[in-house]
Amino acid sequence: MVKDLNIEFKLNTMVIDINEEKQITAMNKEEGLFILNAKAVILAMGCRERARGALNIPGYRPAGIFSAGTAQHLLNIEGLMPGKEVVILGSGDIGLIMARRMTLEGATVKVVAELMPYSGGLKRNIVQCLDDYHIPLKLNHTIIDIDGKERIQGVTLAKVDENRKPIPGTEEYISCDTLLLSVGLIPENELSQSMGIKLDPVTSGPIVNERLETNRKGVFACGNVLHVHDLVDYVSEEAGIAGRNAAEFVKYLNSQPDTVNGEIITLIPESGVRYTVPQYLNPEKMEEILTVRFRVDNVYQNKNVSVYYNDKLIVKRKKKIMAPGEMEEIKLKKQDLFSFPSLNKISLRIEE
Ligand SMILES: Cc1cc2nc3c(=O)[nH]c(=O)nc-3n(C[C@H](O)[C@H](O)[C@H](O)COP(=O)(O)OP(=O)(O)OC[C@H]3O[C@@H](n4cnc5c(N)ncnc54)[C@H](O)[C@@H]3O)c2cc1C
Repeated sequence: MVKDLNIEFKLNTMVIDINEEKQITAMNKEEGLFILNAKAVILAMGCRERARGALNIPGYRPAGIFSAGTAQHLLNIEGLMPGKEVVILGSGDIGLIMARRMTLEGATVKVVAELMPYSGGLKRNIVQCLDDYHIPLKLNHTIIDIDGKERIQGVTLAKVDENRKPIPGTEEYISCDTLLLSVGLIPENELSQSMGIKLDPVTSGPIVNERLETNRKGVFACGNVLHVHDLVDYVSEEAGIAGRNAAEFVKYLNSQPDTVNGEIITLIPESGVRYTVPQYLNPEKMEEILTVRFRVDNVYQNKNVSVYYNDKLIVKRKKKIMAPGEMEEIKLKKQDLFSFPSLNKISLRIEE
């Protein structure tokens, strides 16, 4: 699409700074350090994987410990097999997908261990990537020791209590030559922060309005840098919205009213809802229908997603199952928002 539209792009190029005037400092081998001046910026830096250092697991630093993404790269891009006997820590989608991938390539995945009482991944991935291959999933478990000096030889698993602390006496040694870590993604927002963009402490991504615009006018965000997505399809959808709005911003630069001073409705995540994206909206600027995405904080069965306008219940929708690993959504209609007098707050709750 980029080529069809004749859009210039630069590979192997690292943006090292964006300032408040939307001046971008980047570097690559051919041009060295260079500066670009932008009228609008779309932040789409994605996430990085949480590494072993963040986990405080004791032990030496033997070979054979990979992030799930590194193992995926080795297998899919380089055609290299990371190992034969595998333990996976973390049951997010990447960990689950890698359990299947390693199995299909001939490895034995001995166990997927998960600290939480539920998997962080999609239900369909648990079925299709673990159950179908008889790979055990141990919930409420973590690794408390890594054995091996040159190459990893095994790990010690232990059950954890409700405070996620290992329970003495539940230790179990599992031999392996490979440990894959799939223990969370961190939105890559160092550049955003250095240009004064406000982040949501729950998503670790920028706080945005209905057009995915951050608190800096003309700076938009989409994809995993905004919040960690379960499906790449939603990333593409969001990217389209950010692109359209950035183009509009450039076109009508001088006539763009300041959203922050406009008619603002705040979206508030309440009982059972961890966050919403967007976090606020201006009904005048939104499209006819706005999709609000959110995640729940636990596994809920046969509960309702309730939407309140200024504390008045507007919608109550029953869901058979909701889990933290799956993004949820509600749709807001522009017409409904306008017909509600002095609306300034929309809350989302999980209720009976
Ligand atoms: C390890 C891993 C495995 C996954 N596997 C699957 C899968 O099998 N199926 C699936 O549907 N989804 C998968 N996902 C999810 C999917 O990859 C993401 O939802 C999607 O790629 C997010 O798109 P994005 O454009 O927001 O970020 P990304 O695809 O991560 O793209 C961000 C890009 O920005 C670049 N970048 C970052 N900082 C800078 C900078 N300072 N200067 C220049 N460039 C920069 C990065 O190099 C990267 O190319 C996986 C995710 C991960 C992390």
